[in-house]
Amino acid sequence: MDSIIPETAHLFPLSRVSTDEQVAKSGHERQQKGLKQLSKRFGLPLAPVMQLDGVSGFKGDHIKDKTPLGLFIRAVSEGLVAEGSILVADDHSRLSRMEPTESSHLLTGILIKGVGVYFANDDTLILKGEKNIQLALMMALWKFSEAHEASKQKQRFTYSHARGMAQKFIDNDGSAFVSGKPLAIKSMGTHPWWIDTSDGTVRAHKLYFAVAREITDKLLAGWGSYRVVGWLNENHPPPTSNMTKARATKRDLKRWGQSMITRWVSGGRDALTGTRRLTFKDTGEEFVLDGYYPVVATLAEVRRIQEQKDARKGSQSNKHSSMLTGINILKCGYCGFAMTSFMHRGKLRCKCNGGAVSASSCKSWGFNLSRLEDICCRLLVNHVWNGDAERMDAEIPVINGLRNELDIVKARIVEAETAIVDGSLAISILGPALERLKDKQQGFEAELKELNAQSGAARLAVDDWERWEEVSPKILDLNEHDLRAEVKELMRVSLAEIRCYRGVKERQQRIEIKMRDGTSYQVWNYANKVVLSDNALDGAIDFQAKAYHLFHWTELDYVLEIKDKDIDWDSIVSDY
Ligand SMILES: [Zn+2]
Repeated sequence: MDSIIPETAHLFPLSRVSTDEQVAKSGHERQQKGLKQLSKRFGLPLAPVMQLDGVSGFKGDHIKDKTPLGLFIRAVSEGLVAEGSILVADDHSRLSRMEPTESSHLLTGILIKGVGVYFANDDTLILKGEKNIQLALMMALWKFSEAHEASKQKQRFTYSHARGMAQKFIDNDGSAFVSGKPLAIKSMGTHPWWIDTSDGTVRAHKLYFAVAREITDKLLAGWGSYRVVGWLNENHPPPTSNMTKARATKRDLKRWGQSMITRWVSGGRDALTGTRRLTFKDTGEEFVLDGYYPVVATLAEVRRIQEQKDARKGSQSNKHSSMLTGINILKCGYCGFAMTSFMHRGKLRCKCNGGAVSASSCKSWGFNLSRLEDICCRLLVNHVWNGDAERMDAEIPVINGLRNELDIVKARIVEAETAIVDGSLAISILGPALERLKDKQQGFEAELKELNAQSGAARLAVDDWERWEEVSPKILDLNEHDLRAEVKELMRVSLAEIRCYRGVKERQQRIEIKMRDGTSYQVWNYANKVVLSDNALDGAIDFQAKAYHLFHWTELDYVLEIKDKDIDWDSIVSDY
């Protein structure tokens, strides 16, 4: 662990915005100004900025485990950040808008570990042992209270409006309806995707309401969720209606989500049967609005689907399910055939199928697949995805080049057509040239369309990747069939290829894991130890945060060693 965390003190800048994109960009720029001078002034090297986008500091989402700040705080609390380091924030509200007690707990938790906190707006450095610490702490408590109060006021306003609307609906007050349809109560969570609220009332969506009913019918007819999703992907574009911006960008926009169908009745029960529940966190009140939505399914139908699902689960329990095989990812490094999974003495294993069916020159060989699943999940959950920005950038010059040529061709076509209309040139001369120009135009347009579609596809994959943030260590449990089935789909879109080789000795493997974003990892797998090379890591905070989290994602039952560059395979072989 020591080798991973920088041993010297650093300046750790924090930049958090909770509003939309445009504001976010300028907000970040503003917050990151003057960092270089600050670094000089404190004589500390600058760590990469911890950037939090669209994360509220009100309920503590910004210090959850997966956020850069959350990871940093955890590293601080475990004494992994060098004393004398300083966390830099624009003002107190960037660090927290939580309850004053929680905010000050957060602050003192950092200070007590010998790490300072600097607020740029009033040029305050709070550091254990400094003379003015009492005053600075009192000021901080006051500022935290202010920030919390402002957020609370905003919430109060939203709540009081929603509460009034909900009560009117329950009282059947005419002002809560327009021509018999309930008025949509917005800013309190989202409506289901089969509901249309575009005119301000709650109505069935003209396309998706029927789709929701069809999904219910198929599940009632005994279809599995996988089959339903396959059918949906072939027949309907996935809905994006009624999703918050954050969720819409997180969602896979090209395909229907597996988890939505797997949890069709458990997650959607209320909305399916027409009920909307509004919970007000300030008072703990809950409003149950029966008949708020048009009914997709009756309660009896919902129960029947759940019963069928439970029955299937029982019959499945002794089958094994692998998350890495059957998706054309896991390959034998020698013959290129797929590795297939099987259970052996209660353990999930895989073997080279080329060898197993004597289709390749391999002797059948294999290893413990659960270990590889563990490693892959650990990596994927914590992978800092090489975003679409770079990949889009690579395409942009090509797209712009094509657009220029297209413009030139179009201009020539206009010139030629004008000349023909003017009668200044005979159509017999210009005609063939005009045809060629038009062919060219079509060619450029087709190429542009394809390129644009490709960049679209790149973006969609990025949306998928974000979903790794929600994956919990529970999926490593072989009995979690449903969860594992969902994550398998995520594996398919996230991993490009895994190639496996045998080590020199028994029970050793060399594994190369390639992600869809082009980064790769190298793994040496031993009976009780894994050496992982993460050459995708650069920049102190990413490396630190990610490496830290690799250890903590779930309890390790093997020794994990992380290297920040390519593994020298030969030197490692001789080590063990
Ligand atoms: Zn093989």
